[in-house]
Amino acid sequence: MNITITKTTAPKAKPADESQLGFGKIFTDHMFIMEYSDGTWHSPKIQPFGNLALSPAAMVLHYSQTIFEGMKAYRSPQSNGGEDDILLFRPKDNFKRLNVSAERSVIPPVDEEFALKALCELIKTDKDWVPRSAGASLYLRPYIIAVDPFLGVRPADKYYFIIIMSPVGAYYPMGLNPVKIAIEEQYVRSVKGGMGFAKAGGNYAASLIGQKTAQAAGYEQVMWLDGVERKYIEEVGSMNVFFAIDKGEDNGTEIITPALNGSILPGITRMSVIELCREWGMNVTERKIAADEVFDLHARGALKEVFGTGTAVVVSPVGALKLGDRAIEINGGQIGAISQKLYDTLTGIQYGNLPDNMGWTYRVI
Ligand SMILES: *Cc1c(COP(=O)(O)O)cnc(C)c1O
Repeated sequence: MNITITKTTAPKAKPADESQLGFGKIFTDHMFIMEYSDGTWHSPKIQPFGNLALSPAAMVLHYSQTIFEGMKAYRSPQSNGGEDDILLFRPKDNFKRLNVSAERSVIPPVDEEFALKALCELIKTDKDWVPRSAGASLYLRPYIIAVDPFLGVRPADKYYFIIIMSPVGAYYPMGLNPVKIAIEEQYVRSVKGGMGFAKAGGNYAASLIGQKTAQAAGYEQVMWLDGVERKYIEEVGSMNVFFAIDKGEDNGTEIITPALNGSILPGITRMSVIELCREWGMNVTERKIAADEVFDLHARGALKEVFGTGTAVVVSPVGALKLGDRAIEINGGQIGAISQKLYDTLTGIQYGNLPDNMGWTYRVI
């Protein structure tokens, strides 16, 4: 398929101060869009960023048949014949996951290779929008929506696959800052058999109330428990979660993360952290871990670090945890050595500042 490119005649001014970018507030000059109808994806276009024309009856607006991905493009100072390199991190895994989400949502799959090609074309079209300052990047948001104007409940016949892009600042402009997290006891995000493993819009609507209650209690984010026993930790907000446990002098540190069980989102950062820790000879276990176990480990002085992982934050240390009326401080509310090393290594690879021994980076330019 050939991508039709129509360039804007009115390019926007790029943000003058990259330290003020924040997250997801401004968008580049162009977007990618292709359509699915009559059983095929067709008419791929790169066009000026602008509003969609949708019927108010469009199915996505009523029944949330929509999925998305989140990834980033990084400007690498290592110059490529005078020009900066622009790198992606494991992008094939994102499009693979998009199709997993599509299958669960009865959305027709996209050709993963073509989707990556379209993404690269779009980034090249707006390459000057990839930020230059340390820690800043171009956030990429591919998504699919059901657009038939129809109020019956069934899978749609027409879809749009769209990619928009937003320059974003360093998540922690002042350095890694531990977050305070409240464990949600009343609401659940997902259950096994539901859509928790998919990046599907409805999951996030379901999670907003937990975020709101956590914030009302003076915490920044919510930690979800499993939907069946309400005992085992699943993930944090839109991050996967890890625990570093001191096993005593001879046994070193064990890294524990909840095993993927159908209701947890299989993060690409999660997978990368597991692979890196194993590469470093650390003992990584994917298993069920109860909230009570975490509090017991803390009481015994064995809970060294807790951290979240995700594309937006990379690695986010957790400084405090609350469950009901129990509250604990982790590592004195300070960032731990493992979180810091993971953050430095992952961002080092993403920005091309460290050698990529894992083969994770993908060059756009
Ligand atoms: C996207 C997401 C993550 C993190 O996935 P990455 O691929 O590492 O960005 C974790 N949990 C939820 C619920 C998510 O939506």
